[in-house]
Amino acid sequence: MDKVVLVTGGTGYIGSWVVKMLLEQGYIVRLTVRDKSKQTGYSHLAAAAEQSNGKLEIWEADLLKKGSFNEAAKGADAIIHMASPFTLRFKDAQKELIDPAVKGTQNVLEAANQSGSVKKVVLTSSVAAVHGDNIDMKEQGLQEFTEEHFNTSSSLTHQPYSYSKVMAEKEAWKMHDAQSAWKLVVINPSFVLGPSLSNASNSESLSFMKDILTGKYYLGAPELQLGFVDVRDVAKAHLLALENNQTEGRHILAERTTGVYEITQLVKEKFGNKYKLPLMKSPKMMLYLVGWMFGLTSSFITRNVGHSLKLNATKSKQQLGLHYTPLQKTVEDMVLQMQQDKVVA
Ligand code: NDP
Repeated sequence: MDKVVLVTGGTGYIGSWVVKMLLEQGYIVRLTVRDKSKQTGYSHLAAAAEQSNGKLEIWEADLLKKGSFNEAAKGADAIIHMASPFTLRFKDAQKELIDPAVKGTQNVLEAANQSGSVKKVVLTSSVAAVHGDNIDMKEQGLQEFTEEHFNTSSSLTHQPYSYSKVMAEKEAWKMHDAQSAWKLVVINPSFVLGPSLSNASNSESLSFMKDILTGKYYLGAPELQLGFVDVRDVAKAHLLALENNQTEGRHILAERTTGVYEITQLVKEKFGNKYKLPLMKSPKMMLYLVGWMFGLTSSFITRNVGHSLKLNATKSKQQLGLHYTPLQKTVEDMVLQMQQDKVVA
């Protein structure tokens, strides 16, 4: 197979698995990075390329620079657009989250328009583009969230990361609807866990597990429900979206929804008392007092803590053909990788 795929965000936590799997399938991967001279960001992918039938090309491009993806997109068959900052630690939400997400999507999709060759775009959105706060489900009178729903409760000041994702996805659909050269398939992962191939990523997924293992929630874990999915399944979903012409639209990914405390108990089942895991679930009142230590605002606590969440991931199984890794294995493999890479003891 000589298919050329332009990949943005391929140096990241999810992106590294996507690039590795594409290379293993024999694709020619055009990986865009912000700074080509920083080889440490992609040396693990260069090593993966050597072990594979595929080919890795490194191109320079920045989400915020107009036209910077145009050259790399010329002659590519498809684009997988994953690059977008995933951080809850920022000073200026507009500059650090919204602009790279929305303007970046515009730049990448404009490159698809200019290419004359791109037939498919796979976009990494998020369940954050499906719903904002957990309480949205009750407020909207829903039993569960499906691909029909879009986040209407996030804004620049409340849950700006989620806002960046819904604004970027809406922009993508708008640009898709204005042309007929390429198809758009969207992947909406819930919170991603599992082993990391890159030690340069700042993804919140990695901070989340490191915080659990280093005792941040020792006195109590917030009663917060999230969807969870294995990073390797998320990567597979991107390849399926690329190759499977039977599916279209959005795809929620979640092995299950469960609480933060329950995740820590999965760690305990395998690793016993090795880590300072939470002693209990933190009472909501307590969180209002100490939530700032975890970066939780009082409006976030009010609208999310203690509220149930249900995500319907049926389409990902039936149409995309994804088989989910059990969450217990995801958690175990992630802790083992962190031990091996000396991120934790
Ligand atoms: P990472 O932080 O590990 O990856 C983010 C990627 O985006 C990196 O490759 C980074 O490149 C790139 N990037 C960020 N800003 C820019 C920019 N200005 N120009 C070019 N590239 C940029 O995060 P994840 O792997 O966790 O997230 C990847 C995608 O998945 C994001 O779109 C995120 O919103 C989405 N997602 C993540 C979930 C999760 O739980 N992790 C859940 C749902 C969706 P560089 O190496 O140069 O920093």
